[in-house]
Amino acid sequence: MEEAKVGSQYQNELLARCARGQHDVETKYGMCGIITAIACFPCGLICLFKDSKKRCARCGEPCE
Ligand SMILES: [Zn+2]
Repeated sequence: MEEAKVGSQYQNELLARCARGQHDVETKYGMCGIITAIACFPCGLICLFKDSKKRCARCGEPCE
């Protein structure tokens, strides 16, 4: 099989996993949360967690 075909098949398999709801979830922290966490440590850590967002690393779909 051609390289390009293998590549697109691989991508399709990953996206198919997302379509089935098996997202590659990663947690992103907002800039405000990080600054507050450092400036008001340790109380600021609460802001850090409140400012975090979970989303899929592959398709960018927000996950709860
Ligand atoms: Zn996904």
